[in-house]
Amino acid sequence: MAEHVVIIGSGPAGWSAAVYAARANLRPLVFEGTVHPDMIPLGQLAFTTEVENYPGFPAGNIRAFVESAVASDRHYNLPPPPKGHESHYAIQGAELVELIKQQAINFGTRVVPDDVVDIDISCCPFRIISGSNPVVEAHAVIVATGARANYLGLPSEEKFKNKGVSACAVCDGALPGFRNKPLAVIGGGDSAVEEASYLTKFGSIVYMVHRRDQLRASKIMQQRALTNPKIEMVWNSQVDECLGDKWLTGIRLKNSQTGATRELAVSGMFVAIGHTPNTAFLHEKLETNDKGYLKLTRPFRTWTSVEGIFAAGDVADDYYRQAITSAGTGCMAALDAERWLVEQGL
Ligand SMILES: Cc1cc2nc3c(=O)[nH]c(=O)nc-3n(C[C@H](O)[C@H](O)[C@H](O)COP(=O)(O)OP(=O)(O)OC[C@H]3O[C@@H](n4cnc5c(N)ncnc54)[C@H](O)[C@@H]3O)c2cc1C
Repeated sequence: MAEHVVIIGSGPAGWSAAVYAARANLRPLVFEGTVHPDMIPLGQLAFTTEVENYPGFPAGNIRAFVESAVASDRHYNLPPPPKGHESHYAIQGAELVELIKQQAINFGTRVVPDDVVDIDISCCPFRIISGSNPVVEAHAVIVATGARANYLGLPSEEKFKNKGVSACAVCDGALPGFRNKPLAVIGGGDSAVEEASYLTKFGSIVYMVHRRDQLRASKIMQQRALTNPKIEMVWNSQVDECLGDKWLTGIRLKNSQTGATRELAVSGMFVAIGHTPNTAFLHEKLETNDKGYLKLTRPFRTWTSVEGIFAAGDVADDYYRQAITSAGTGCMAALDAERWLVEQGL
């Protein structure tokens, strides 16, 4: 018998969709994805440490936060923060997604630890083909497979991820390790300028390192970067090596014209060279925008170009790319799917 709704992807969007679908008695089935070298179950948040901007999960001492936020007769007996983290302890990225996953499972969500490799959309119900499980039929599908941040690919960059190297200024810029320190943004497009401008709130200076002698960004964004007194351009330069011991202390730059190298002292390197949405398994059966993100076909809805298939989270969002927006659109996709199923009499 066909499933009511299959959800593909296991980040905040997928599990939030599952919470809503499960509470609507749809018994969702989630394919959580396993094998992609750059992706893991629980999604991108599992690559990070502390998350401080998900509403309800602040930085700092959680017990003190609850005591400051709710009336004293409702203070719960929360465990103290881990030893050594008393003053600064936020929920870890993986923990946050595990909580949403467990919430979905408690309402009856079922989980298949497998990657979807294709969807047959030629018939109704849809046929979901995965790596090693039998074909699953589903009346409605929610695609929540996220996107991967592109990195430079240096082994030293890998070493300093979460220790000075990041791909998200909004996520990490406010962390103590970056405050009042020199920072570098790598890239020359609109999003690199966005990241650099945002980081000027926190860094002592922000270097924009670009391999050419002019920015690729739109004219207005170029203007924004070039006139900001806290942004300094570093032209014709590519990162050759990330330097430091436990935390990043600098980057070695190679001049793309002369080959000469020099070191730049920075405490943060923000890579802003684009993202790759995880849509390969769809084999171009759903429409995408010019950056490869799934196209949503109705205003403020999660409908894709194929009726009955909905999209949530970063796979359809090249703009906000946050856990909370992904969770929000996950909720929307589940409600859209549920209403669509009712309209179809399914
Ligand atoms: C280092 C880092 C730090 C971040 N910090 C923050 C932060 O502090 N706050 C914040 O709000 N946001 C942060 N973000 C952004 C946030 O993680 C993303 O916006 C959010 O995770 C997107 O959620 P999603 O559910 O759309 O997709 P993802 O989290 O990308 O999850 C997609 C899931 O789908 C699975 N999948 C992919 N393809 C398939 C397939 N074919 N079959 C089955 N499963 C598949 C993947 O394995 C993955 O588990 C950070 C991102 C990064 C990379």
